[in-house]
Amino acid sequence: MPHSKAVRFMNITEFKTVTENRTVSIGYKCDCCGKFISGDMPDNWHEFEGHHESWGNDSIDSYKYYQVCSPKCYLKMLHEAIEHFEEYSTAIINGYSVEFLRELLKYCDIDE
Ligand SMILES: [Zn+2]
Repeated sequence: MPHSKAVRFMNITEFKTVTENRTVSIGYKCDCCGKFISGDMPDNWHEFEGHHESWGNDSIDSYKYYQVCSPKCYLKMLHEAIEHFEEYSTAIINGYSVEFLRELLKYCDIDE
């Protein structure tokens, strides 16, 4: 292999305005009913997460986030989240155990 000489080029700079394309947040969509709102998440919306705590590294990857526009959509999303995490022995949704939430939802009528 031939011995290479280190060559240094002088870096010439200039001050310029640069435009670039990148992903930016334009609003929020309810994961339950699909309602879209542009800008920041309104105060009366709710975001929660669920994850399982079963042994293994995949519990870190299990985090799932939900955004809902109303208490009604929240209850519906809770049902979905419980079904999603049903297979794990320990799962936490919105800070509560799946077992507790399953009992709680027995007292909530969402079909009105
Ligand atoms: Zn909704």
